[in-house]
Amino acid sequence: MSAWDLLFTGGLVLPSVGQEPFIGFVAVTGDRIVAVGAGDPPAEAPEARRTIDARGLLLMPGLVNCHNHAAMTLFRGMADDLPLEVWLHEHIFPAEARAVHPEMVYWCSLLAAAEMLLGGTTTVADSYFFEDEACRAFIDSGIRAVAAQGVIDFPAPGAPDPSKAVAQAAAFIDRWRNRHPRLTPAVFCHSPYTCSDGTLVQAKNMAAERGALFFIHLAETVGEVEQCQREHGCSPTAWLHRLGVLDRHTVCVHCVHVDAGDIDLLAAHDAAVVSCPESNMKLASGIAPLPQLAERCRVGLGTDSAASNNDLDLFAEMGSCARLHKALAGDPTVVPASLALRLATEGGAAVLGMEEKVGRLAKGHKADITVVNLDQPRLTPFYSPDILVYAAGGGDVAFVVVDGEIVVEDGRIVTIDLEEVMARVRELARPKNRRNGTS
Ligand SMILES: [Zn+2]
Repeated sequence: MSAWDLLFTGGLVLPSVGQEPFIGFVAVTGDRIVAVGAGDPPAEAPEARRTIDARGLLLMPGLVNCHNHAAMTLFRGMADDLPLEVWLHEHIFPAEARAVHPEMVYWCSLLAAAEMLLGGTTTVADSYFFEDEACRAFIDSGIRAVAAQGVIDFPAPGAPDPSKAVAQAAAFIDRWRNRHPRLTPAVFCHSPYTCSDGTLVQAKNMAAERGALFFIHLAETVGEVEQCQREHGCSPTAWLHRLGVLDRHTVCVHCVHVDAGDIDLLAAHDAAVVSCPESNMKLASGIAPLPQLAERCRVGLGTDSAASNNDLDLFAEMGSCARLHKALAGDPTVVPASLALRLATEGGAAVLGMEEKVGRLAKGHKADITVVNLDQPRLTPFYSPDILVYAAGGGDVAFVVVDGEIVVEDGRIVTIDLEEVMARVRELARPKNRRNGTS
């Protein structure tokens, strides 16, 4: 029997959400988990090239962040405390017009990837412009990514002619398909209110021909719903349905303002949903009917971008998600910790069509492992994994493995020079590099 590449021993293992954690081991060969068990590895187990003593550590499935615009780390804290329409049209879109270029997307996406990996996120679904540069950054960082090229009906960074945006996205998907094992290309139509019906249908057909995921912001604000009612006489969800855009390869982000009929449509077509509670709270967009959505649809969690969150910490997102819905419902049993954990692991994997390979620590699955340091005051004592939702944070992550490769070791990212990345982003944030000054 050939040697294992990597072996964690003596750790508290949470193989999947809902399972009782146990003291045991996890073994990795190549990009796969080859053994998970209680106690010590059996006597006949192969030698391991590297063994990590995981006593005091918890091994769990890597977290899946189902919605981000990674390069927007540049805009973190640039325009806080504003309504979405003002934030987007008066600050973010103008800032993007002057500050987004390929080099910016590379370094700012790399910063985001570093932040996510250090916080235990092993897979991200990203949507932005110049997405080739985001792909390069994700590959360099080691994170697993679904990278979606943005499409919008006005001149955008790298896509000055909106009539060519879908063709550009098609070329992007063709360039990246089957090119790297951790990278899956996709398309992102910004929203039903910034993309015409023609663009939406064309982009969806293009994605369907390629078997690619189609992401879209949907029903994020009351204003969006009212505009859609005025223009099309129906809700944004019903509008997508009428256009034939809803199916199991469509990922609808936000779904804050959806009613029972909308949820019926999403469920009937097996469209996936991503909830971004912290971004929705910060922009005062509202609160998605998550308990109802999670009963009927595949649902994952997303941070959205650092411009509207303002961090990319999925542990914090889980905590906010679980608390928010209890406060709204006046019922502490709503969105239990186990549901928040499930959405951030196997739920997210299902949204991205990856449930067969990520989201659980199981033999044959990809070796995407997040290791939390329990040996510290705020995670002591440990009664159940609920503590991961209510007390843990991204800063508690000790090791991260993606595709069998250690990318975070003893709380430090080992794939990239983090000092250089932060220095580059600080430089990009200097007013002289923003051409028209600050927003
Ligand atoms: Zn978004």
